[in-house]
Amino acid sequence: MNDRVFSFFGVAPGSPEWLDWKWQYGNRITNVDTLAEIITLGEKEKREISLCLGGLRMAVTPYFASLMETDDPGCPIRMQAVPSVAETRVLPQEMKDPLNEEHYSPVARIVHRYPDRVLFLATRRCATYCRFCTRRRRAGEDDPAVDEEEKEKALRQRRITESGNSD
Ligand code: SF4
Repeated sequence: MNDRVFSFFGVAPGSPEWLDWKWQYGNRITNVDTLAEIITLGEKEKREISLCLGGLRMAVTPYFASLMETDDPGCPIRMQAVPSVAETRVLPQEMKDPLNEEHYSPVARIVHRYPDRVLFLATRRCATYCRFCTRRRRAGEDDPAVDEEEKEKALRQRRITESGNSD
């Protein structure tokens, strides 16, 4: 466990703050200077992360950061959340929607790929932004509350799926 997280945030593992998801969400690490307090970053790596943050989002909860090796850039937990400069190179064959979810979205915020289930995208904010995200075209955008009409349409779609499933 990465003890730097606890000294930086001034909390103890298992404390009420630490166990509170709102505290975790409110204390997400979103800039390179804070990240450099938690894990060891060379100057080159800091520059590269800053370059990424010019166009991409980073957010890491203190809990997730506490699982990172402080000095190992190859730590898989770290690689899952810390931007890589490779993300700034977008090849022509890369797709914004690699799972073709838009095609399976009969109404806003619903993805209906499989006959017996629907995915309701209740929010576009993630506690930690995964570097491998296939929904990056949406995750991290502004996230206004779901309005009543959107919610009703999404729930109607869910009911259609349920009734189709029970036949
Ligand atoms: S949408 Fe899922 S995969 Fe993408 S950043 Fe959020 S939690 Fe990670």
